[in-house]
Amino acid sequence: MGKPTITFSKLVDKLQQHYGTPAPPPSADPLELIIRENVAYLASDQRRAAAFTALKETIGTRPEQILAAEHSALAKIGKAGILPDISAEKLLTIAKIAYEGFDGDLRPALKKPLPQAKKALKKFPSIGDPGAEKILLFTRSYPVMALDSNGLRVLYRVGFADEQKNYSATYRLVQDAIRSQLPRDYDSLIGAHQLLRQHGQELCKRTKPRCAECPVRTECAYNRNAALSQ
Ligand code: SF4
Repeated sequence: MGKPTITFSKLVDKLQQHYGTPAPPPSADPLELIIRENVAYLASDQRRAAAFTALKETIGTRPEQILAAEHSALAKIGKAGILPDISAEKLLTIAKIAYEGFDGDLRPALKKPLPQAKKALKKFPSIGDPGAEKILLFTRSYPVMALDSNGLRVLYRVGFADEQKNYSATYRLVQDAIRSQLPRDYDSLIGAHQLLRQHGQELCKRTKPRCAECPVRTECAYNRNAALSQ
């Protein structure tokens, strides 16, 4: 695909001009972030947030509160997404790991060296490298450029790397390509994460990206290639 014709910081600047100030992260607490990830499977951000609030208000989010809850009560909350019984199981698994392995508080584990902090987070359901990096960033434990699937898609389409068949291979290639251009402070990294995610959700959608409305269309390799193939 060739080299991108825009730098990472210019791309983020253009997204900020288009979308305005990025939304803050939903939480800075590691256990809350893990629970949010799992509380409702394949739910929208809004439904997931509502499910988390319902969990907090009706059952609680401390490990011992979740462990004491009825499976049916947890599944009722999981109905915000699909597979509510599986979401309930995941909440119980999270609570068990947090209670037995971390004494209910993950924050000390995130102060360990980066590989150990990541390993601790990856013990939890649905948390792979990207999820672990997001938690490390949002909790301000390590200044890493976490990317969700939306942000990753934006970056490979713009031209920072070629998409690979394997998601983690694409993730690594994009990370390698942007590493030397990244800001170092938490606020900038968190802002970039949020803006890239928003762009992937609103315009650079997985199917039918709305390139005609995109603030980086003139610098984007995907858009250039699409124009050439017409
Ligand atoms: S021009 Fe299209 S493919 Fe490129 S970043 Fe914008 S929306 Fe995504």
